[in-house]
Amino acid sequence: MVDCVFCKIASKEIQSKIAYEDEEVVAFHDINPQAPIHVLIIPRKHIPSLNEATDEDQNLLGKLMLVAQKLAKELNIAEDGYRLVLNTNRGAGQSIFHIHLHLLGGRLFRWPPG
Ligand code: 5GP
Ligand code: ZN
Repeated sequence: MVDCVFCKIASKEIQSKIAYEDEEVVAFHDINPQAPIHVLIIPRKHIPSLNEATDEDQNLLGKLMLVAQKLAKELNIAEDGYRLVLNTNRGAGQSIFHIHLHLLGGRLFRWPPG
């Protein structure tokens, strides 16, 4: 098995504040939040980045978005607005190589992002 922090969070080998989980997806609060709400949504399947995703992952990737939508509603940021971020590779700021969708909300966001 790959030595991966997010695989360990999904298997609960590493503790985190879980916001949602099912057989395919886990969502947990970011350890270093960049907004009042900052949740990471991951597949249990270890996919290093979007670059390694395949057609087989289509439903799983769509599910990450729908889990984000449900959490945004539950966490009361859906109406004001929220941002989903998927950093891919180092140039975009990816630091953990297990694909994850950032759900950010609870404050105003600027555009373009930094
Ligand atoms: P990236 O920079 O790869 O897009 O995002 C990785 C995110 O994972 C960062 O926002 C970072 O704070 C978060 N993170 C890294 N290690 C841990 C951890 O052990 N627990 C939790 N909850 N978040 C983590
Ligand atoms: Zn992993």
